[in-house]
Amino acid sequence: MFIAARSALFLVSRRLQSWTRVKKRTANNPPPAKYGGRHTVTLIPGDGIGPELLNHVRELFRFCCVPVDFEIVRVDSSASSEDDINNAVTAIKRNGVALKGNIETNHNLPPSHKSKNNLLRTSLDLYANVMHCQSLPGVPTRHKDVDVIIIRENTEGEYSNLEHENVPGVVESLKIITRVNSLRIAEYAFNLAREKGRRKVTAVHKANIMKLGDGLFLQSCKEVAAGYPDITFDNMIVDNTTMQLVSKPQQFDVMVMPNLYGNVVSNVCAGLVGGPGLVPGVNYGKDYAVFETATRNTGKSIANKNIANPTATLLASCLMLDHLKLHAYAKMIRKAVLKTLSETQLHTADLGGQGTTSEVVHTIMQEIQRGGPRTSEQI
Ligand code: ATP
Repeated sequence: MFIAARSALFLVSRRLQSWTRVKKRTANNPPPAKYGGRHTVTLIPGDGIGPELLNHVRELFRFCCVPVDFEIVRVDSSASSEDDINNAVTAIKRNGVALKGNIETNHNLPPSHKSKNNLLRTSLDLYANVMHCQSLPGVPTRHKDVDVIIIRENTEGEYSNLEHENVPGVVESLKIITRVNSLRIAEYAFNLAREKGRRKVTAVHKANIMKLGDGLFLQSCKEVAAGYPDITFDNMIVDNTTMQLVSKPQQFDVMVMPNLYGNVVSNVCAGLVGGPGLVPGVNYGKDYAVFETATRNTGKSIANKNIANPTATLLASCLMLDHLKLHAYAKMIRKAVLKTLSETQLHTADLGGQGTTSEVVHTIMQEIQRGGPRTSEQI
Protein backbone atom coordinates (compact mmCIF):
# COMPACT_ATOMS: atom_id res chain seq x y z
CA MET A 1 0.00 0.00 0.00
CA PHE A 2 2.76 2.39 1.06
CA ILE A 3 4.85 1.41 -1.98
CA ALA A 4 1.88 1.93 -4.33
CA ALA A 5 1.21 5.38 -2.88
CA ARG A 6 4.89 6.29 -3.18
CA SER A 7 5.08 5.24 -6.81
CA ALA A 8 1.86 7.14 -7.60
CA LEU A 9 3.36 10.22 -5.97
CA PHE A 10 6.56 9.71 -7.95
CA LEU A 11 4.59 9.48 -11.21
CA VAL A 12 2.62 12.65 -10.45
CA SER A 13 5.79 14.56 -9.58
CA ARG A 14 7.48 13.34 -12.81
CA ARG A 15 4.43 14.53 -14.80
CA LEU A 16 4.56 17.90 -13.07
CA GLN A 17 8.29 18.22 -13.71
CA SER A 18 7.93 17.48 -17.41
CA TRP A 19 4.94 19.84 -17.66
CA THR A 20 6.99 22.62 -16.01
CA ARG A 21 9.85 21.83 -18.38
CA VAL A 22 7.56 22.23 -21.38
CA LYS A 23 5.98 25.36 -19.90
CA LYS A 24 9.43 26.86 -19.38
CA ARG A 25 10.50 25.86 -22.85
CA THR A 26 7.53 27.44 -24.59
CA ALA A 27 7.39 30.63 -22.53
CA ASN A 28 8.81 33.76 -24.09
CA ASN A 29 8.90 36.61 -21.66
CA PRO A 30 9.72 40.06 -23.04
CA PRO A 31 12.76 41.87 -21.65
CA PRO A 32 11.92 44.31 -18.84
CA ALA A 33 11.79 48.03 -19.66
CA LYS A 34 14.86 50.10 -18.92
CA TYR A 35 15.09 53.17 -16.70
CA GLY A 36 12.24 55.54 -17.57
CA GLY A 37 10.12 52.68 -18.95
CA ARG A 38 11.83 52.67 -22.33
CA HIS A 39 12.68 49.61 -24.45
CA THR A 40 15.43 49.14 -27.01
CA VAL A 41 14.53 47.09 -30.07
CA THR A 42 16.85 45.92 -32.84
CA LEU A 43 15.71 47.20 -36.23
CA ILE A 44 16.92 45.43 -39.36
CA PRO A 45 15.73 47.43 -42.42
CA GLY A 46 16.40 44.57 -44.90
CA ASP A 47 16.01 45.06 -48.66
CA GLY A 48 13.37 46.20 -51.16
CA ILE A 49 10.41 47.85 -49.41
CA GLY A 50 11.77 47.02 -45.93
CA PRO A 51 13.71 50.26 -45.25
CA GLU A 52 10.94 52.65 -46.36
CA LEU A 53 8.19 50.78 -44.46
CA LEU A 54 10.28 50.56 -41.29
CA ASN A 55 11.00 54.30 -41.57
CA HIS A 56 7.23 54.80 -41.47
CA VAL A 57 7.08 52.71 -38.29
CA ARG A 58 9.76 54.93 -36.72
CA GLU A 59 7.88 58.06 -37.82
CA LEU A 60 4.62 56.75 -36.38
CA PHE A 61 6.24 55.69 -33.09
CA ARG A 62 7.77 59.16 -32.74
CA PHE A 63 4.38 60.73 -33.49
CA CYS A 64 2.71 58.57 -30.80
CA CYS A 65 5.60 59.04 -28.29
CA VAL A 66 6.00 55.25 -28.05
CA PRO A 67 8.73 54.56 -25.45
CA VAL A 68 10.83 52.45 -27.84
CA ASP A 69 14.34 53.25 -29.08
CA PHE A 70 15.59 51.44 -32.16
CA GLU A 71 19.09 50.13 -32.57
CA ILE A 72 19.53 49.94 -36.35
CA VAL A 73 21.61 47.06 -37.70
CA ARG A 74 22.09 46.87 -41.46
CA VAL A 75 22.63 43.52 -43.14
CA ASP A 76 24.10 43.40 -46.63
CA SER A 77 22.34 40.65 -48.58
CA SER A 78 24.99 40.55 -51.30
CA ALA A 79 28.01 40.16 -49.00
CA SER A 80 29.22 36.59 -48.64
CA SER A 81 30.66 37.37 -45.21
CA GLU A 82 28.36 36.48 -42.33
CA ASP A 83 29.79 39.21 -40.06
CA ASP A 84 26.79 41.52 -40.46
CA ILE A 85 24.22 38.86 -39.64
CA ASN A 86 26.32 37.84 -36.64
CA ASN A 87 26.21 41.48 -35.49
CA ALA A 88 22.43 41.42 -35.88
CA VAL A 89 22.20 38.21 -33.84
CA THR A 90 24.35 39.76 -31.08
CA ALA A 91 22.16 42.88 -31.03
CA ILE A 92 18.98 40.80 -30.75
CA LYS A 93 20.53 38.76 -27.94
CA ARG A 94 21.22 42.04 -26.16
CA ASN A 95 17.79 43.61 -26.77
CA GLY A 96 15.62 40.48 -26.81
CA VAL A 97 13.32 41.82 -29.54
CA ALA A 98 13.69 42.82 -33.20
CA LEU A 99 11.60 44.26 -36.00
CA LYS A 100 12.85 43.46 -39.47
CA GLY A 101 12.36 43.80 -43.19
CA ASN A 102 13.15 40.84 -45.39
CA ILE A 103 16.78 40.34 -46.40
CA GLU A 104 16.99 39.37 -50.05
CA THR A 105 18.32 35.89 -50.87
CA ASN A 106 19.48 35.85 -54.46
CA HIS A 107 19.16 32.28 -55.77
CA ASN A 108 21.93 32.86 -58.33
CA LEU A 109 24.55 33.13 -55.56
CA PRO A 110 26.69 30.00 -54.91
CA PRO A 111 25.17 27.24 -52.72
CA SER A 112 27.58 28.14 -49.91
CA HIS A 113 25.75 31.49 -49.57
CA LYS A 114 23.09 30.80 -46.96
CA SER A 115 19.89 32.80 -46.52
CA LYS A 116 20.66 35.45 -43.89
CA ASN A 117 17.04 35.39 -42.76
CA ASN A 118 17.38 31.68 -42.14
CA LEU A 119 20.71 32.12 -40.32
CA LEU A 120 19.09 34.66 -38.03
CA ARG A 121 16.20 32.34 -37.17
CA THR A 122 18.37 29.30 -36.55
CA SER A 123 21.09 31.18 -34.60
CA LEU A 124 18.44 32.52 -32.22
CA ASP A 125 16.47 29.24 -32.22
CA LEU A 126 13.29 31.09 -33.23
CA TYR A 127 11.44 27.83 -33.61
CA ALA A 128 7.83 29.02 -33.92
CA ASN A 129 6.62 31.19 -36.77
CA VAL A 130 3.14 32.46 -35.98
CA MET A 131 0.74 34.15 -38.38
CA HIS A 132 -2.83 35.12 -37.62
CA CYS A 133 -4.73 35.41 -40.87
CA GLN A 134 -8.02 37.23 -40.53
CA SER A 135 -10.50 38.83 -42.94
CA LEU A 136 -9.98 42.59 -42.73
CA PRO A 137 -12.52 45.44 -42.85
CA GLY A 138 -12.81 47.11 -46.24
CA VAL A 139 -10.69 44.57 -48.11
CA PRO A 140 -12.70 42.88 -50.88
CA THR A 141 -12.01 39.12 -50.96
CA ARG A 142 -13.72 36.02 -52.32
CA HIS A 143 -14.03 34.42 -48.87
CA LYS A 144 -15.41 36.11 -45.75
CA ASP A 145 -14.83 35.32 -42.06
CA VAL A 146 -11.40 33.76 -42.43
CA ASP A 147 -9.74 33.47 -39.01
CA VAL A 148 -6.82 31.03 -38.98
CA ILE A 149 -3.69 30.86 -36.84
CA ILE A 150 -0.80 29.19 -38.67
CA ILE A 151 2.10 27.80 -36.66
CA ARG A 152 5.11 26.84 -38.71
CA GLU A 153 8.20 24.98 -37.49
CA ASN A 154 10.92 27.48 -38.28
CA THR A 155 14.30 25.83 -37.76
CA GLU A 156 14.52 22.52 -39.62
CA GLY A 157 12.64 20.51 -42.27
CA GLU A 158 13.56 21.48 -45.80
CA TYR A 159 15.40 24.62 -44.58
CA SER A 160 18.33 22.70 -43.13
CA ASN A 161 20.88 23.92 -45.73
CA LEU A 162 22.02 20.36 -46.35
CA GLU A 163 22.39 19.81 -50.08
CA HIS A 164 25.13 18.14 -52.07
CA GLU A 165 25.91 16.85 -55.54
CA ASN A 166 28.43 14.04 -55.00
CA VAL A 167 27.54 12.46 -58.34
CA PRO A 168 27.15 15.03 -61.16
CA GLY A 169 23.49 15.41 -62.05
CA VAL A 170 22.31 13.87 -58.77
CA VAL A 171 21.47 16.29 -55.98
CA GLU A 172 20.58 15.17 -52.51
CA SER A 173 18.66 17.75 -50.51
CA LEU A 174 18.05 16.67 -46.95
CA LYS A 175 14.89 17.36 -44.99
CA ILE A 176 15.45 17.02 -41.26
CA ILE A 177 12.58 16.23 -38.92
CA THR A 178 13.41 15.59 -35.28
CA ARG A 179 11.18 14.28 -32.53
CA VAL A 180 12.31 16.93 -30.07
CA ASN A 181 11.53 19.85 -32.41
CA SER A 182 8.27 18.31 -33.60
CA LEU A 183 7.09 17.87 -29.99
CA ARG A 184 8.22 21.42 -29.23
CA ILE A 185 6.25 23.03 -32.09
CA ALA A 186 3.18 20.84 -31.43
CA GLU A 187 3.28 21.84 -27.75
CA TYR A 188 3.55 25.48 -28.81
CA ALA A 189 0.52 25.12 -31.10
CA PHE A 190 -1.71 23.44 -28.52
CA ASN A 191 -0.62 25.79 -25.78
CA LEU A 192 -1.41 28.81 -27.96
CA ALA A 193 -4.74 27.29 -29.04
CA ARG A 194 -5.74 26.86 -25.39
CA GLU A 195 -4.53 30.34 -24.44
CA LYS A 196 -6.55 31.90 -27.28
CA GLY A 197 -9.67 29.81 -26.58
CA ARG A 198 -9.42 28.00 -29.91
CA ARG A 199 -11.17 24.67 -30.43
CA LYS A 200 -9.25 22.76 -33.09
CA VAL A 201 -5.66 22.13 -34.16
CA THR A 202 -4.96 20.64 -37.60
CA ALA A 203 -1.55 19.11 -38.32
CA VAL A 204 -0.55 19.46 -41.98
CA HIS A 205 1.79 16.82 -43.44
CA LYS A 206 2.60 14.46 -46.29
CA ALA A 207 3.06 11.34 -44.16
CA ASN A 208 1.58 9.10 -46.88
CA ILE A 209 4.74 9.71 -48.94
CA MET A 210 7.36 10.77 -46.36
CA LYS A 211 6.38 8.03 -43.97
CA LEU A 212 9.38 8.45 -41.68
CA GLY A 213 9.94 12.23 -41.65
CA ASP A 214 6.39 13.54 -41.83
CA GLY A 215 5.28 10.38 -40.03
CA LEU A 216 7.39 11.45 -37.04
CA PHE A 217 5.97 14.98 -37.19
CA LEU A 218 2.40 13.65 -37.23
CA GLN A 219 3.07 11.13 -34.46
CA SER A 220 4.57 13.90 -32.29
CA CYS A 221 1.46 16.05 -32.82
CA LYS A 222 -0.76 13.11 -31.85
CA GLU A 223 1.22 12.57 -28.65
CA VAL A 224 0.94 16.22 -27.65
CA ALA A 225 -2.77 16.28 -28.58
CA ALA A 226 -3.40 13.55 -26.00
CA GLY A 227 -2.53 16.08 -23.28
CA TYR A 228 -5.15 18.55 -24.56
CA PRO A 229 -8.50 16.71 -24.44
CA ASP A 230 -10.34 20.08 -24.58
CA ILE A 231 -9.00 20.74 -28.11
CA THR A 232 -10.03 18.72 -31.15
CA PHE A 233 -7.10 17.37 -33.12
CA ASP A 234 -7.18 16.41 -36.76
CA ASN A 235 -4.68 16.12 -39.58
CA MET A 236 -4.71 16.79 -43.28
CA ILE A 237 -2.37 16.05 -46.16
CA VAL A 238 -0.77 19.22 -47.48
CA ASP A 239 -2.12 19.04 -51.05
CA ASN A 240 -5.68 18.58 -49.83
CA THR A 241 -5.07 21.39 -47.29
CA THR A 242 -4.27 23.96 -49.98
CA MET A 243 -7.34 22.88 -51.96
CA GLN A 244 -9.58 23.05 -48.86
CA LEU A 245 -8.12 26.46 -47.99
CA VAL A 246 -9.03 28.03 -51.30
CA SER A 247 -12.50 26.46 -51.31
CA LYS A 248 -13.61 26.54 -47.64
CA PRO A 249 -11.06 28.34 -45.44
CA GLN A 250 -13.53 28.85 -42.57
CA GLN A 251 -13.15 25.16 -41.57
CA PHE A 252 -9.63 25.87 -40.19
CA ASP A 253 -8.88 27.18 -36.72
CA VAL A 254 -5.23 26.58 -35.65
CA MET A 255 -2.85 24.82 -38.04
CA VAL A 256 0.59 23.40 -37.25
CA MET A 257 3.10 22.17 -39.83
CA PRO A 258 6.75 21.66 -40.83
CA ASN A 259 8.75 24.48 -42.39
CA LEU A 260 8.16 24.35 -46.16
CA TYR A 261 4.44 23.53 -45.94
CA GLY A 262 4.24 26.49 -43.55
CA ASN A 263 5.73 28.72 -46.20
CA VAL A 264 3.24 27.59 -48.86
CA VAL A 265 0.19 27.60 -46.57
CA SER A 266 1.06 31.07 -45.16
CA ASN A 267 1.19 32.50 -48.67
CA VAL A 268 -2.12 30.89 -49.64
CA CYS A 269 -3.73 32.30 -46.48
CA ALA A 270 -2.28 35.78 -47.01
CA GLY A 271 -3.76 35.68 -50.53
CA LEU A 272 -7.15 34.71 -49.08
CA VAL A 273 -7.38 37.85 -46.93
CA GLY A 274 -6.01 40.34 -49.46
CA GLY A 275 -2.28 39.75 -50.03
CA PRO A 276 1.21 40.00 -48.57
CA GLY A 277 0.92 43.68 -47.74
CA LEU A 278 -1.66 43.03 -45.03
CA VAL A 279 -0.60 40.24 -42.68
CA PRO A 280 1.98 40.51 -39.88
CA GLY A 281 4.02 37.61 -38.54
CA VAL A 282 6.34 36.76 -35.69
CA ASN A 283 9.15 34.31 -34.97
CA TYR A 284 9.33 33.20 -31.34
CA GLY A 285 12.03 31.30 -29.52
CA LYS A 286 12.41 30.63 -25.83
CA ASP A 287 14.38 33.83 -25.30
CA TYR A 288 13.87 36.13 -28.30
CA ALA A 289 11.15 37.39 -30.62
CA VAL A 290 11.54 38.79 -34.14
CA PHE A 291 8.63 40.56 -35.83
CA GLU A 292 8.20 40.96 -39.59
CA THR A 293 5.55 40.58 -42.29
CA ALA A 294 4.01 37.12 -42.36
CA THR A 295 5.03 36.21 -45.89
CA ARG A 296 8.49 37.81 -45.66
CA ASN A 297 8.43 39.57 -49.03
CA THR A 298 11.17 41.81 -50.33
CA GLY A 299 9.01 43.58 -52.96
CA LYS A 300 12.08 44.75 -54.87
CA SER A 301 10.15 45.86 -57.96
CA ILE A 302 7.93 48.23 -55.93
CA ALA A 303 10.69 49.58 -53.65
CA ASN A 304 11.15 53.36 -53.26
CA LYS A 305 8.04 54.14 -55.33
CA ASN A 306 5.82 55.08 -52.39
CA ILE A 307 3.25 52.44 -53.46
CA ALA A 308 3.85 49.53 -51.05
CA ASN A 309 1.06 48.69 -48.63
CA PRO A 310 2.37 49.54 -45.13
CA THR A 311 -0.37 47.60 -43.24
CA ALA A 312 1.52 44.32 -42.61
CA THR A 313 4.62 46.11 -41.32
CA LEU A 314 2.60 48.46 -39.11
CA LEU A 315 0.56 45.58 -37.69
CA ALA A 316 3.84 43.67 -37.05
CA SER A 317 5.00 46.68 -35.03
CA CYS A 318 1.74 46.48 -33.02
CA LEU A 319 2.37 42.78 -32.27
CA MET A 320 5.81 43.85 -31.08
CA LEU A 321 4.31 46.49 -28.79
CA ASP A 322 1.94 43.89 -27.35
CA HIS A 323 4.91 41.60 -26.75
CA LEU A 324 6.62 44.46 -24.84
CA LYS A 325 3.39 44.84 -22.85
CA LEU A 326 2.87 48.32 -24.32
CA HIS A 327 -0.73 47.29 -24.99
CA ALA A 328 -2.30 50.75 -25.02
CA TYR A 329 0.09 51.98 -27.74
CA ALA A 330 -0.49 48.78 -29.73
CA LYS A 331 -4.24 49.20 -29.47
CA MET A 332 -4.16 52.87 -30.46
CA ILE A 333 -2.00 52.26 -33.57
CA ARG A 334 -3.81 49.06 -34.61
CA LYS A 335 -7.21 50.74 -34.37
CA ALA A 336 -6.05 53.62 -36.59
CA VAL A 337 -4.42 51.24 -39.11
CA LEU A 338 -7.60 49.16 -39.45
CA LYS A 339 -9.85 52.24 -39.63
CA THR A 340 -7.66 53.66 -42.43
CA LEU A 341 -7.71 50.31 -44.23
CA SER A 342 -11.50 50.45 -44.29
CA GLU A 343 -11.33 53.69 -46.33
CA THR A 344 -11.28 52.14 -49.80
CA GLN A 345 -10.29 55.43 -51.52
CA LEU A 346 -6.93 55.17 -49.74
CA HIS A 347 -6.17 51.62 -50.89
CA THR A 348 -2.73 51.06 -52.39
CA ALA A 349 -2.23 49.39 -55.81
CA ASP A 350 -2.06 45.83 -54.38
CA LEU A 351 -5.71 46.28 -53.25
CA GLY A 352 -6.74 47.81 -56.58
CA GLY A 353 -6.47 51.46 -55.49
CA GLN A 354 -4.24 54.42 -56.25
CA GLY A 355 -3.31 55.47 -52.71
CA THR A 356 0.32 55.98 -51.78
CA THR A 357 2.18 54.60 -48.78
CA SER A 358 2.72 58.05 -47.28
CA GLU A 359 -0.97 59.02 -47.74
CA VAL A 360 -1.96 55.91 -45.79
CA VAL A 361 0.53 56.64 -43.00
CA HIS A 362 -0.51 60.30 -42.87
CA THR A 363 -4.18 59.32 -42.53
CA ILE A 364 -3.28 56.87 -39.74
CA MET A 365 -1.61 59.76 -37.89
CA GLN A 366 -4.68 61.99 -38.38
CA GLU A 367 -6.84 59.16 -37.11
CA ILE A 368 -4.68 58.87 -33.98
CA GLN A 369 -4.78 62.63 -33.50
CA ARG A 370 -8.56 62.59 -33.77
CA GLY A 371 -8.52 60.19 -30.83
CA GLY A 372 -7.31 63.24 -28.84
CA PRO A 373 -4.53 63.61 -26.28
CA ARG A 374 -4.20 60.69 -23.89
CA THR A 375 -3.57 60.77 -20.20
CA SER A 376 -0.73 58.65 -18.87
CA GLU A 377 -3.35 56.27 -17.35
CA GLN A 378 -4.85 55.64 -20.79
CA ILE A 379 -1.39 54.89 -22.15
P1 ATP B 1 9.41 41.71 -56.66
O1 ATP B 1 8.70 41.23 -57.88
O2 ATP B 1 8.70 42.89 -56.05
O3 ATP B 1 10.89 41.90 -56.80
P2 ATP B 1 9.48 39.09 -55.59
O4 ATP B 1 9.20 38.46 -56.90
O5 ATP B 1 10.75 38.77 -54.87
O6 ATP B 1 9.24 40.65 -55.56
P3 ATP B 1 8.02 39.08 -53.22
O7 ATP B 1 8.90 40.11 -52.68
O8 ATP B 1 7.98 37.78 -52.51
O9 ATP B 1 8.29 38.72 -54.70
O10 ATP B 1 6.54 39.66 -53.29
C1 ATP B 1 5.50 38.95 -53.96
C2 ATP B 1 4.55 39.94 -54.58
O11 ATP B 1 3.87 40.66 -53.56
C3 ATP B 1 5.27 40.96 -55.45
O12 ATP B 1 4.44 41.24 -56.55
C4 ATP B 1 5.34 42.18 -54.55
O13 ATP B 1 5.39 43.37 -55.26
C5 ATP B 1 4.04 42.05 -53.73
N1 ATP B 1 4.15 42.68 -52.39
C6 ATP B 1 4.87 42.22 -51.35
N2 ATP B 1 4.75 43.03 -50.31
C7 ATP B 1 3.94 44.03 -50.67
C8 ATP B 1 3.44 45.21 -50.03
N3 ATP B 1 3.75 45.52 -48.78
N4 ATP B 1 2.61 46.02 -50.73
C9 ATP B 1 2.26 45.73 -51.99
N5 ATP B 1 2.71 44.65 -52.66
C10 ATP B 1 3.53 43.81 -52.01
